[in-house]
Amino acid sequence: MNEDTHSELREMIGLHVIDQLEDADRDAMVAHQKVCAACRVEEAQLRGVVALLALVDPAAIDREPSPHATTTTHARPAQRGRVGGGSPFPGQ
Ligand SMILES: [Zn+2]
Repeated sequence: MNEDTHSELREMIGLHVIDQLEDADRDAMVAHQKVCAACRVEEAQLRGVVALLALVDPAAIDREPSPHATTTTHARPAQRGRVGGGSPFPGQ
């Protein structure tokens, strides 16, 4: 495999996935992917992302999230010390 071809084509996989490559580039991509597992895997992953993006409702992107739909993304700070201020040495 030619590394230059690989690098060049790998940058175009996204365009290939959304069917925006020129015919010559698409032919080169198809030929390259027959011998390059890394590019086949990358294309499969990108196709998964594109499929998920198709599920997004564009009208919902700018909408404020519902306050009832928040998820906890910030961990609560670790509780420091003991509530009630007991001795750190039980029994003393
Ligand atoms: Zn490749």
